[in-house]
Amino acid sequence: MAMKFEKLEPPSDGKRIRVKKGKLIVPDNPIIPVIYGDGIGPEVVEVAINVLSAAVDHAYQGNKKIKWLEVFAGNRAKELYGELLPEETLKAIKHYCVALKGPLTTPIGGGFRSLNVTLRQTLDLYACVRPVYYLEGVPSPVKHPEKMNIVIFRENTEDVYAGIEWKKDSEDAKKIIEFLYQEFGIRIREDSGIGVKPISEFGTKRLVRKAIQYAIDMRRKSVTLVHKGNIMKYTEGAFRDWGYEVAKDEFDDRIITEQELWEKYDGKQPEEKIVIKDRLADNMFQQILTRTEEYDVLAMPNLNGDYFSDAAAAQVGGLGVAPGGNIGDYIGIFEATHGTAPKYAGLNKVNPISIILSGVMMLEYIGWNEAAKLIVKGIKKTVKQKLVTYDLARQMKDATEVKTAEFGNYVIKNIKETKLFKRI
Ligand code: NAP
Repeated sequence: MAMKFEKLEPPSDGKRIRVKKGKLIVPDNPIIPVIYGDGIGPEVVEVAINVLSAAVDHAYQGNKKIKWLEVFAGNRAKELYGELLPEETLKAIKHYCVALKGPLTTPIGGGFRSLNVTLRQTLDLYACVRPVYYLEGVPSPVKHPEKMNIVIFRENTEDVYAGIEWKKDSEDAKKIIEFLYQEFGIRIREDSGIGVKPISEFGTKRLVRKAIQYAIDMRRKSVTLVHKGNIMKYTEGAFRDWGYEVAKDEFDDRIITEQELWEKYDGKQPEEKIVIKDRLADNMFQQILTRTEEYDVLAMPNLNGDYFSDAAAAQVGGLGVAPGGNIGDYIGIFEATHGTAPKYAGLNKVNPISIILSGVMMLEYIGWNEAAKLIVKGIKKTVKQKLVTYDLARQMKDATEVKTAEFGNYVIKNIKETKLFKRI
């Protein structure tokens, strides 16, 4: 029976994506919820929807179609429901499994830490996935940005980001300091604030499992565990150990460790095997600059992932165009990594690449890789033609500055002009 909603109107000619035996079952006409978001959200999301729909149409010659369903969060939700994140929105995303999302304003003060964090926590979207690759023509601060082609899996729920902390001089901070002294003889300065860094076997294994499965599905070459285990042995060091454990216990026939690569295979990677390696986080930051092409899929705890994602994106000049997704066991929300840029709202000026590429991740997630590839090609061609929005135009030589919607139309034109390979 169809799910009943109070204010939402699911398209009657669409079907929901289901989960069966641990796999997504995607119909040809999936209903996909979309949050337009605040500020520049609506204008970039609209372009993304047009581009995605056009690519799907072209790739499958009309045999597949996304049925979009607007669901509400942020200011639009406040007007319609009287609250920023209505229960019905969460219910719809859970029911339909996959969603596209524009940026949301973080309300200052009040109960919410952030709507985005609340969404991730409520739906247990434990993997923040960020692909980082180069779009030719985008200005970059390094000599060879094209060497970068990685996918970061950042743990989203644990680590020092769990929000367990106490203010200096608070009763609770004093209690903790006293407890540590009485029970363990550990002395902490009295004027300290205290934070806790939990990293669990469960949280680590489900994240690393996802990263390895992704590497297998997408025919990637390696998964690197990035940690600071030399200093934080029982949290970050354990992250590394549990990561290797899940690799050995669950993917033994598909993986080899870096050590085995040299000891058993003389450094020559067998075609069907994925190499599991690990690097200390500080080393990783220099390796990604000096030996960029040696890295592929990376899995890391929350804080490392936060820093590393932006540093890597900056290297390809793509902080403003970088896509992202937050994914749980099955539910995935794909969203731009930038915010609502309120000063540009309604001006039809900003760059929609970040949200479009997040849509590409969404298409890959549901297995519509042909449409995904068409879009990446279309964007690359448009950027190469130097038809770009203000942010790229101001850094490129001889570029033509175009509006948000115009950029989308050029990408669609390039998609439609792409010849399809016929399947035999
Ligand atoms: P922001 O909205 O990302 O904007 C900062 C600057 O980044 C803009 O002024 C603009 O730079 C550039 N920019 C962002 N998006 C762009 C685009 N699509 N095309 C071209 N340039 C773009 O960050 P913020 O001002 O710190 O945050 C504003 C609000 O967004 C806050 O309420 C914040 O909480 C929220 N936010 C939401 C999310 C989310 O929903 N996931 C993420 C981050 C922030 P120039 O002015 O230099 O051109």
